[in-house]
Amino acid sequence: MKQQPIITVVGSINMDMVTITKKVPVQGETTFGERFETIPGGKGANQAVAAARLGGNVQFIGRVGDDAFGEQLQEVLKKEGISVTNVEPVTHSSSGVATILVSDHDNRIIVIPGANEQVTPKYVEEHKEQLLTSDLVLLQFEIPLETVRYCLNLCHEAGIPVILNPAPARTLDKEFWSKALYITPNETEENELRLDEHEEIARKIIVTMGDKGAKFRENGITHTIPSFRVEPVDTTGAGDTFNGALAVAISEKMPLSKAVEFANAAAALSVQRFGAQGGMPTRKELEEFIL
Ligand code: ADP
Repeated sequence: MKQQPIITVVGSINMDMVTITKKVPVQGETTFGERFETIPGGKGANQAVAAARLGGNVQFIGRVGDDAFGEQLQEVLKKEGISVTNVEPVTHSSSGVATILVSDHDNRIIVIPGANEQVTPKYVEEHKEQLLTSDLVLLQFEIPLETVRYCLNLCHEAGIPVILNPAPARTLDKEFWSKALYITPNETEENELRLDEHEEIARKIIVTMGDKGAKFRENGITHTIPSFRVEPVDTTGAGDTFNGALAVAISEKMPLSKAVEFANAAAALSVQRFGAQGGMPTRKELEEFIL
């Protein structure tokens, strides 16, 4: 059997704790809510799951806390066939968590990065050997910025292509942006980051545009690859599905326009189902969809 290319995600792993309530308590008040759910998330984990479902050979470099969530989160990744040998628990730290209060037309979210803050350059250096076995590396901005820089440098020196999803938007200097093969902001992040002011960087940008699809520049021409027309029920994680799928497509050496179409298709399938990881399609589902 053909060996699948190795995709490494260096990124965040979170547990989302979602409380659904009619009434949001005011200061000092206790109220009863409707429902509570724990949902695995974090951009790193989401993108890794998207890539693994689409047949990617995925390994993760990250950290969880030494709490019950830590074990659950490792299990979730393992069940998807993702290697978690390099996901070590941090002693005396909570896992990354997001406390999410959902009431009518209103979301309130508190993120605690917890163990994700311990994905330091030193930690990655300790797992450098595994990182250097990668055919492609996928990064986001939910781990310390200096770690993203460290990975970009290391991969650049080793000639390993990197897809950098600049979410949430944070600034890096031009030198580091230029070390990624592709940078994948959504439209809001693109506006915040103003990356296309540098021609060298503009050539690397793939902008996701929600139901309008995605665009990229090639040989000075902007190409727009339209999205697939679907009835969305939950667009949470659309961007993560897009990035995981793009990583699989690029690692399989699809031409860029084909790769973006593949990623659009995966994301379109995901928005038709609830949840970020919950909605992500398998390779078979995607192939049937685009046939
Ligand atoms: P993010 O989730 O990061 O904000 P986008 O909203 O740009 O990212 O969505 C990422 C990708 O998901 C889009 O490029 C597109 O392929 C797909 N997508 C998002 N919303 C829809 C939709 N309503 N219909 C079809 N595809 C969608």
